[in-house]
Amino acid sequence: MARVTEEDVRRALDGVVEPESGKPVTALGMVGGLVVKDGNVGFVLEVPAERGRDMESVRRDAEDAVKALRGVLSVTAVMTAHKPAGTDAPARPSRPAPGRDERTGGDAIPGVGAIVAVASGKGGVGKSTTAVNIALALASLDRRVALLDADIYGPSAPRLLGLEGKPETDGRRLWPKEAFGVKAMSIGLLIGEDQPMVWRGPMVQSALEQMLRQVEWGEVDVMIVDMPPGTGDAQLTLTQRAPLAGAVIVSTPQDLSLIDARKGLNMFRKVDVPILGIVENMSYFVCPHCGRRTDVFAHGGAREEASRLGVPFLGEIPLDIRIRETSDGGRPIVAAEPASPFSESYRLIAAAILDGIAGARRPAPRIVIQ
Ligand code: ADP
Repeated sequence: MARVTEEDVRRALDGVVEPESGKPVTALGMVGGLVVKDGNVGFVLEVPAERGRDMESVRRDAEDAVKALRGVLSVTAVMTAHKPAGTDAPARPSRPAPGRDERTGGDAIPGVGAIVAVASGKGGVGKSTTAVNIALALASLDRRVALLDADIYGPSAPRLLGLEGKPETDGRRLWPKEAFGVKAMSIGLLIGEDQPMVWRGPMVQSALEQMLRQVEWGEVDVMIVDMPPGTGDAQLTLTQRAPLAGAVIVSTPQDLSLIDARKGLNMFRKVDVPILGIVENMSYFVCPHCGRRTDVFAHGGAREEASRLGVPFLGEIPLDIRIRETSDGGRPIVAAEPASPFSESYRLIAAAILDGIAGARRPAPRIVIQ
C-alpha cells in the first residue's frame, strides 16, 4: 500500500481554501501539529476565535481532502481557536500577572477553585477509576466538582460516567456534560472512541488547552484532572500549563509501578506542584465467596514508599469486582453503592485531598531569627 508522507498531506491541504481570503489554509499558516503515522493522519487547524462556527466546513473540507489520498486510513482535524494577532499575552511573562498562579505556569481559570491532577507513572493501575470515584466522593462531600479527562491515550470518562454525544458548542466555547452532579469533559467526547490516537506534541497540547480554557466550567470548587499515564512531554506540558493546586499519584503495590510512581512524583516536583499524596489501588483482594482477604501483590508498598518519600499516604482501595463492574456499567461505585466500604474509602481519600489543598494554600511557616 502507498505510504502517505507529511509532504503528501500538505500538498492535499494546499487545495483547501479559506473562503474569506480565498487562500489555501496552508498558505495562511493555519495548519499545525501535523502527524502522519501508519496511514493515520492528525493535524490542527488554527482559526480566529470569532470565526469558529463558520470554519467547521473548512475543517471538514480539509479532512476530506486528506482522506482522499491513497493509503490514508483515518484523518482527525481538530479546530483550535486563537486570539487575533496582537492580543496574545507573552508566552511566559517574567512576573506573575494578576490572577496567575504564582507557583505553576498556568493562568487561573475563572470560577475554578483548586485543580488537582490524578496521575500515574504507567497505564492500567486504575488511575481513571480512582479519579472518577474521587470526583464523585468530593461531590458527596458537598463540593462543586468538575472532572477533566485529559487521558489522551485512553480517555475513559465517557464510559465511566455513561456520557454520550458531542458536547454542546457555539463554535468557540464548549459546555461540559454532567453526570451524578459532576461536570465532565473528556478528550474522548471531542474525538470519538473510534479515532486512532495519533495525537502527539502540539495537537495534544492544544486539545488540552482547549479543554481547560474553552470549556464553560462555571463555578467549581475542585476540578479533578485525569492525566495521561506516564511522565512524558504531554504530561509535563499539562502540569506546566494548568494552574495545579496539587497532584495525587495512583499506584498499585507492585514494585515496578512504585518506581513509575516515583517518576511521577519527580515530574510534579520539577514544576513545583505540591504532592497531595499517594493512593494504593488494587491494594488487596477480598474473596467474594469466603470473605477472606488476600494481599495480591506486595500490599502496603505504597504506604511505605510514601513515608520514604515524605509524602502523605491517602488511602488504599482493594481489588474488587464491584469496582470494575460498576465502572464498566457507567455508574461508578461511589454513585452506585454510596454506603459500601469502598465508597467510604474514596470519601476518606477525598477528605484528605481537601485537607491537602487547604494545607498547600497556607504559606509555609517562616523562621524568624531575632
Ligand atoms: P488507568 O486509568 O490507570 O489506565 P483504569 O482506571 O482504566 O486504569 O483501570 C484499568 C482496569 O482496572 C479497568 O477495567 C478498571 O475497571 C479496573 N480497576 C481499576 N481499579 C480497580 C479496583 N480497585 N478493583 C477492581 N478493578 C479495578
